[in-house]
Amino acid sequence: MLRNNFIAGEWVRGDDGIENVNPSDTRDIIDLYAVAGAKQVKDAIDAAASALPAWSLCSPLKRFDVLDTIGTEIISRQKELGDCLAREEGKTLDEATAEAARAGHLFKFFATEAYRSNSEGYESIRQSVELSVRREPLGVVGVITPWNFPLAIPAWKIAPALAYGNTVVFKPAELVSGSAWLLAEIISRAGLPEGVFNLVMGRGSDVGQGIVSSSKVTGVTFTGSTPVGKSIGSTVFDRGGRVQLEMGGKNPLVICGDADIDVAVDCALKGSFFSTGQRCTASSRLIVEESIHEEFIDKLVDRMSSLRIGDARSPETDIGPVASEAQLEVDLKYLKIGDEEGAVRRFGGDLVQSDKPGYYLFPALFTETTNTMRINREEIFGPIAAVVRVSSFDEAIEVANDAEVGLSAGVVSTSPARIKEFVRRIEAGMAQVNLPTAGMDFHAPFTGRKSSSFGPPEKGSYCREFFTQAKVVHEAELPAINAV
Ligand code: NAD
Repeated sequence: MLRNNFIAGEWVRGDDGIENVNPSDTRDIIDLYAVAGAKQVKDAIDAAASALPAWSLCSPLKRFDVLDTIGTEIISRQKELGDCLAREEGKTLDEATAEAARAGHLFKFFATEAYRSNSEGYESIRQSVELSVRREPLGVVGVITPWNFPLAIPAWKIAPALAYGNTVVFKPAELVSGSAWLLAEIISRAGLPEGVFNLVMGRGSDVGQGIVSSSKVTGVTFTGSTPVGKSIGSTVFDRGGRVQLEMGGKNPLVICGDADIDVAVDCALKGSFFSTGQRCTASSRLIVEESIHEEFIDKLVDRMSSLRIGDARSPETDIGPVASEAQLEVDLKYLKIGDEEGAVRRFGGDLVQSDKPGYYLFPALFTETTNTMRINREEIFGPIAAVVRVSSFDEAIEVANDAEVGLSAGVVSTSPARIKEFVRRIEAGMAQVNLPTAGMDFHAPFTGRKSSSFGPPEKGSYCREFFTQAKVVHEAELPAINAV
């Protein structure tokens, strides 16, 4: 069945279609999803622009109701949404269902944000002048998202965009059109006026570019790879638009000599390999102090060897398949690069033999690596981690910070002083202490440093900085006679 685009309140056939393949079993075609042509992209943007004036002025009660309704339906259908996500992206069913629930809670959180005052008053330095800052919607917002969190990331962009009075043109990653389509279908029935929310599916190079280059799209919120993000950023900047970019990571997990070894191994195992390592926050660099190095590796390899790799929707599976053939090729390329660079492949990296044709790969651990190797500098985005041995805590911090990106970073230690110092010195937007590297909470900001992020943080109330624009109003008090 062909799943259509949603434009100006109507489901519209695309110019073409893309088949969505299950990476756990490539014989299973999930559905056929419409690809928007240039005219449809333009129609969606025009619809969002036409719907903007009324939506930006509508009551917060209406915005609350719509977002809360969407959140409630997502939460009540979390199993079905999670099943679709696991089937098309390869995340395990537990992870996928939890992601669906999180998407629902994101809508509910941003429903309440719709009520927050859109202006702030100040004491003016001038007598008889009232000074205020109004928060006005940014305008038409282009939402461009990656394949690895196909419900949560669209939710944490679309929900605040609508809550703060913007209209939306949403382009999901082509690999995960199924989850995006289900989300759009729920949004389409929640009571939004036509044109406020639009879905256009298809490739980044044409559908994405159509959004990015349109002067009617006032702001673009993008999550994806660093090179694509940088190119989108400069296009939008050149035409005077606003961008919010969340991009790649190469996240360090520092294991101190005083760490609780079981906590360290658990953090590394989950942080590096769960979600098949396909998380921007995955800990791909394990920086381990010499005194605990051998014990840590032995125990980590032991835990890795008991991981069950298989169909994402099977309850026995710990790690699902790689999401696509293209990503599997990237993973295999980097395994070869690691071997050629002289790293020791201590565990994994082989294809898993399965009775189903799928993109199954054993999680891989490289040891005896240096931070200058490509496997430690470039984002792989697969179930591959590398250990860098260090001789001191200071060296661990230096190595952790020696990266072009700075998204999430973790430390495992039992020393309050070291933890404090790590948090202070680490060059990352998010720090995890004795926890796997991740960015879970929907009401707290999600942000990176260096080339990982550009623009105001996502999530929580912080994202208001992106989705609204300030207008400063100086108002003289009217003489009493005129004020009547
Ligand atoms: P990607 O950059 O290839 O694509 C992201 C989105 O951009 C997709 O919808 C794609 O179709 C679109 N796109 C691609 N080229 C475009 C162009 N020229 N113009 C407009 N749109 C274009 O990324 P991906 O492979 O989907 O996702 C993996 C990447 O996302 C990794 O680098 C990962 O670290 C990153 N990521 C970052 C975060 C974060 O919050 N920092 C979260 C999840 C994923």
